[in-house]
Amino acid sequence: MHWAEKLAREIIERNPNKEEYVCAAGISPSGSVHIGNFRDVVTSYYVVRALEKLGKKARLLFSWDEYDRLRKVPSNIAKITENFEQYLGMPYAEIPDPHGECASYAEYNEKEFEKSLEELDIHPDYRYQAKEYTSNRYGEGIVFALKNRKQIYDVLLKYKTQEEDAEEREKYAPVNVYCSVCKKDVTEVLSVSDDGEELTYRCKICGHTETVRVREYGHIKLVWKVDWPMRWGVEGVDFEPGGIDHAAASGSYVVASDIAKNILGVTPPLFQGYGWLSIAGMGDMHSSTGNNITPGAVLKVYEPDMIRWLFAKYAPEAGFAFNFDDTIIRHYSEFDKMLEAYKNGETDEYNTAVFDYCMVSGKDSYSKVPFGVLASVATIVDFNPQAVREMLAKIGVSFDARDEERLLRVKNWICNHQPGKLFKLLPEKNAEYFNNAQEDEKIAVQKLYEYLSSVEAVEEKEVQQYLYSIINDPNLTKKENTAKQMRFFKVFYNVLFGQDMGPRLYLFLAAVDKNKYLHLLQF
Ligand SMILES: [Zn+2]
Repeated sequence: MHWAEKLAREIIERNPNKEEYVCAAGISPSGSVHIGNFRDVVTSYYVVRALEKLGKKARLLFSWDEYDRLRKVPSNIAKITENFEQYLGMPYAEIPDPHGECASYAEYNEKEFEKSLEELDIHPDYRYQAKEYTSNRYGEGIVFALKNRKQIYDVLLKYKTQEEDAEEREKYAPVNVYCSVCKKDVTEVLSVSDDGEELTYRCKICGHTETVRVREYGHIKLVWKVDWPMRWGVEGVDFEPGGIDHAAASGSYVVASDIAKNILGVTPPLFQGYGWLSIAGMGDMHSSTGNNITPGAVLKVYEPDMIRWLFAKYAPEAGFAFNFDDTIIRHYSEFDKMLEAYKNGETDEYNTAVFDYCMVSGKDSYSKVPFGVLASVATIVDFNPQAVREMLAKIGVSFDARDEERLLRVKNWICNHQPGKLFKLLPEKNAEYFNNAQEDEKIAVQKLYEYLSSVEAVEEKEVQQYLYSIINDPNLTKKENTAKQMRFFKVFYNVLFGQDMGPRLYLFLAAVDKNKYLHLLQF
């Protein structure tokens, strides 16, 4: 059974008659959201899809935790603006956008991610926590938590190594208060009324002291481990995933669940931990570095269906990698093969479910030209679609409008991540290289020139056979012949492109108009 269906069945079992199930996800817009965090949304999204498949109503609730404080300046922001430290302690939603494009720093990061979600055909019901908090929607929950603050202290203490401190317990308040003057949460709560309705705070920065009505002030945020379960109750959350570390013995899900059950009287949602992702060649991704690989960056080289496919295929706890190296070619060919099998009804139960969930809705035609084939020919014609079409036609591969997006991704991949694969014909003969080549290599270049000049149309298979006939020596072993082929290819590539490597040679010679390169082989 597919992992999302297993979770969906468990959710239904916990609460069989619920009218509409709520699957939640949430991210802090502390910087560009990386593809690893996307797993929070997509895990919940697939559970929604599975619930729907089982005939239930369900919705994806996505929370922007934008009323959290700025803890540190991401390194990429430090590069584009000065003095961003001045906003430390302010909520993301109230910090100006250093890019100067959006109403706030939070909004900039949110829009960037929401645009990618749109492209990935995921359309959640958004909650913007600054709006929820400042409109006092959680007034009741905050008052309740303040009233029960000492009991909350006791629960939190269970997960800490420190001893109970009577004085600390007396003063404890599970909130961060933003100062009404300087907007920062560098404040201390001086007193709370017994009914939790009133609170007095003092700002440690500007010294402002104020007594506020908790339900009306709008700038009091519950601490994370109380905020999270409070919102489970308000929104009726049935399922929420989180990084695997949240589920550890004293991780935030465990603590929040304890508060939910024992203080708030809320049933915690079903939790599913997920593993981290990596990008091949770039190591693990963590948002603190600021150099995040965003879903948008992945979308530049992976088709939306493929991104959805990988997340549907791997169970949440499994880690996997997006590859910006040659492995991407294998990802594409595996996807193409599986999609073909799915369309022909040849996939097993698990993979059928994967494709039922992962295909972008309303799309019915898919690119069929292998990514690897495009990568090996497109650079030669500067990724021009018309020229690619003509080249591929010569080797019997049809390329049409639906393949153009894939061509664009090949271009992004090579230009941004694999510049070594950009091959351009030399503007003039590489005489210096030719003159220094060995005698048998020179003869091979001349023979190749004569052969190509003599044939009317260059055919991939025939040119391959011809090259083997002039390079291979029947008296050598297979291994020796392979080494010899490599030595000669290096010469052909240097004469044509001025590099030791090049595109697939037979394909290149057959697909490109020979008048464009023949003169480079004539010595
Ligand atoms: Zn202040």
